[in-house]
Amino acid sequence: MVSRQDATLNLASLIKHSLEAGGEVSGSGLLLPSDAQLAEDGLRLAAPLNWELSVRTTGGDDDYLLSGNVSGTAIMECRRCLTDVKTKVRAELIYSMSYQPGSKELKLVETGEDDEDRLVFGQPEVDFAPLLRQIFAIELPATVLCQESCKGLSLDGVNLNEFPEHKAPATDNNADKDKPPFAALKDFKL
Ligand SMILES: [Zn+2]
Repeated sequence: MVSRQDATLNLASLIKHSLEAGGEVSGSGLLLPSDAQLAEDGLRLAAPLNWELSVRTTGGDDDYLLSGNVSGTAIMECRRCLTDVKTKVRAELIYSMSYQPGSKELKLVETGEDDEDRLVFGQPEVDFAPLLRQIFAIELPATVLCQESCKGLSLDGVNLNEFPEHKAPATDNNADKDKPPFAALKDFKL
């Protein structure tokens, strides 16, 4: 399958027949965001994201139900030793959708009644890529470890998993600790 920067479904057939329950449009694909998009979402990916989506009519006027999932492998830094860690994530999603002709892009709005978020779209062709990227990014853990027993970095930045014997060199404070506290004063010419 070819990776794309969009995840577009054409919902025209649903919009035309929104009163007949049972209509469904589904699709799947590989999503490879641009570098700028990845930077915006604070994401690094090991491979394109996998997505599957389906939009169903619910029988109401211009109301639909979106369900599906997005999965992939992000690259995150171990919080102790800062090495790259591949982090697999899969997020399920389900949203009510409303068709409001005239709205430009797909957007998430809060409905006043029950505080349930609802997706609003205004064109038959809907690009779900921004939504998928955000849901994937939110699903990532806040921090990761390369291994439970990660030894982290020494004070001078050496990875102690690779060099467990490494000792950080003594700092100047330690080296001077045997001198009288005001020894430096003798160098001043008064
Ligand atoms: Zn680590």
